Amino acid sequence: MIKSVVSKEYQELQKEIVKLQEQWKLQIDPETIRPILDKAAMQAGVPAAALTTIDFEISLFLQWIEEINTTLVKFKPELEAKLASIPSLLTEETAIRWIDEAFSYNHLYFTSFAEGHGLEEWIPQFLAETALRPYLQLTAEMVQPMINHAVPGAGCPVCGEPVRLAILEEEGKKAIHCPRCLANWHAKRLECSHCGNEDHKTIQFLTVEGDAISQIQVCEECKGYIKIIDTRQYITKPSAGLLDLNFIHLDFVAQENGYNSLGEKKQTN
Ligand SMILES: [Zn+2]
Ligand SMILES: [Zn+2]
Repeated sequence: MIKSVVSKEYQELQKEIVKLQEQWKLQIDPETIRPILDKAAMQAGVPAAALTTIDFEISLFLQWIEEINTTLVKFKPELEAKLASIPSLLTEETAIRWIDEAFSYNHLYFTSFAEGHGLEEWIPQFLAETALRPYLQLTAEMVQPMINHAVPGAGCPVCGEPVRLAILEEEGKKAIHCPRCLANWHAKRLECSHCGNEDHKTIQFLTVEGDAISQIQVCEECKGYIKIIDTRQYITKPSAGLLDLNFIHLDFVAQENGYNSLGEKKQTN
């Protein structure tokens, strides 16, 4: 039997956040997002969101952060005191900085922000990333028709997030889904998303006992892995974000077996 490693409470919180993000996305004026898709840059692996001009509406961003805080407190009342200083810390200037740093995953910036303001380490980046995603998701929706493949190693062609989740569709087609911006694209069944290796001898599939619908694709060339979930039996297909979370036990299995979520650049002599 597979023991879920994520608490029910945490899953419920994530579901609530996904719902909020769907509502927030509708509050964004699509005209404030202007992708300038440069084919050559995209073929070189530059994520489409980096080629997009977004006029962020700071008041919306601040309002969403407040809504996240309310939701967090609902699930964990003891967080109330820990989140109390956030509204006064978030000046317009800081909010703009949060958006920039969340976009580029600047973990160091957020840890030092937390440290400098006596916040728990995870709080600033979690808030910024959660409130940034509706913009990334709307960008992904707008450019999705132009996204049909990804450059191995470059991550999601829209937001740059490292590839970690694929879904098996009808006829066993493999579609990579980005849990961050929800973009998706097809990939070869035997292809490593991290290094591009296509050799069937060095690409393997690990399975977890008692779990018939998922597998871990691992690559001996770069030691990278991704999770593959067969959703053909699902009546309503869960979102990529929830699948990623519900199958987090596969991440533990992969990492225990010496694989990592990014792959490693090969040493050349
Ligand atoms: Zn993405
Ligand atoms: Zn590889």
